[in-house]
Amino acid sequence: MNPFLRRQLMKAYQWVTGRRILNCLDELNRTQWLSREELLTLQKAKLHKLLVYAYQYVPYYQRTFDQANFQPDEVLTNLASLGKLPILTKAIIRDNFDDMLTTESKQRTKLARLTTGGSTGHPLIFMQDVNFRDYVTADIHRHLEWAGWQFGQLHAYIWGTNFEVTTSQSLRTHLMDWVLNRFVTNAYVLSEESMTAFADRVRLQQPRILFGYASSLYRFAQFVRTKKITDIRFDGIFSSAEVLYQGQRAYIEETFDCKIFNRYGTRDLGGVACECEVHTGLHASIENNYVEILRNFDSKEPVRLGETGHIVVTNLNNYGMPFIRYNIEDMGTWHTVDQCPCGRALPLMDLVQGRHIDMFKTKDGRAVWGGFASPLFAMEGVKRFQLVQKSLDLVVARIVKEGELDQTRLETIERTVRTALDDNVEVRFEFPDEIPVLDSGKYRYAISEIGEGS
Ligand SMILES: [Zn+2]
Repeated sequence: MNPFLRRQLMKAYQWVTGRRILNCLDELNRTQWLSREELLTLQKAKLHKLLVYAYQYVPYYQRTFDQANFQPDEVLTNLASLGKLPILTKAIIRDNFDDMLTTESKQRTKLARLTTGGSTGHPLIFMQDVNFRDYVTADIHRHLEWAGWQFGQLHAYIWGTNFEVTTSQSLRTHLMDWVLNRFVTNAYVLSEESMTAFADRVRLQQPRILFGYASSLYRFAQFVRTKKITDIRFDGIFSSAEVLYQGQRAYIEETFDCKIFNRYGTRDLGGVACECEVHTGLHASIENNYVEILRNFDSKEPVRLGETGHIVVTNLNNYGMPFIRYNIEDMGTWHTVDQCPCGRALPLMDLVQGRHIDMFKTKDGRAVWGGFASPLFAMEGVKRFQLVQKSLDLVVARIVKEGELDQTRLETIERTVRTALDDNVEVRFEFPDEIPVLDSGKYRYAISEIGEGS
């Protein structure tokens, strides 16, 4: 099917479902060429609109704006006034869940519930409205176009697919995959069998783009080299949701003779930034987010160019459950290069440290992405969690409790671990008072203590 027909098909899909992905994509493809000044004006207008809405409809923000003596109109004349507002943390979201939702009834009907292990083992439940999700999908497609891809061309994902989904969820996903012309292999379970099937399909259908977690892309590259497959090529490979290490990057690029586009995105915010074809740094999607990088949380001072700080994001599209000044729990810097040679004025940033997730191993020689169970921990009563693979027969699930825990949910975690790894794996629950962070300050929520050689 040619790109024109794909667009028509997408339009039909949008007409039926009420989605606006194409419209958002066209808009982002236009705005990325605006001047910095025009972009900042657009961003400020979206920020102001969101703040006005939040103050009118969201009880948590009504309270915090009043306490901070903040009026949404202030940002029109002084953007720095946003600094009066407190930083939003995962703990605050958990404690104020109902008060963070919009009270506007027509908006409430459009919400989808998501759970995440977050980047740091703080489980989180949150809601996203359809406008937010349209922009998230559109932003991914805009970034794919930076690698020379065109809307409607085939692309492949190595991505997490939940083990327990309802039939209607699964149908919706399949329909979306078909309309967007993409196929997926489950990153949670990368076996010899699944990677063989995936490699065969890639060789046969030749998708232009490969999109996946850094660790899964690396694993697939290793597999391709071991099998001496030399004819797989892409226009671009997108690495997302995890830190991409230099060694991994070089290895994957060499394997497929193709550049990697490092992308920074999370389940709770969607895409935040992505490398363009120049690969200087990551262009922040400032039409979708107001991004701050702060020196520390006490003074809340912004960093200078090139200085590392905490990334704090206000998403400009999710009115259902606005995240204003959200601590994403990653560190980053504003790039010292202010204007990218590609001509896009979206500011450049770099990630400094963040998420590292181990691959788990199984008796039959598979590698399973350690993040597979993390959304399951997003339940009441869990403050922090960590999943540790002690041996091929034993996985320890550590949970720092906060009140009472639902026993059936623990059983679901146990069942999911067994489905992913092995039916006979023992899942042992531990309930410590605290889970320590590593010396580097990083927190790892999925650890495999089985060495590389075993
Ligand atoms: Zn660029």
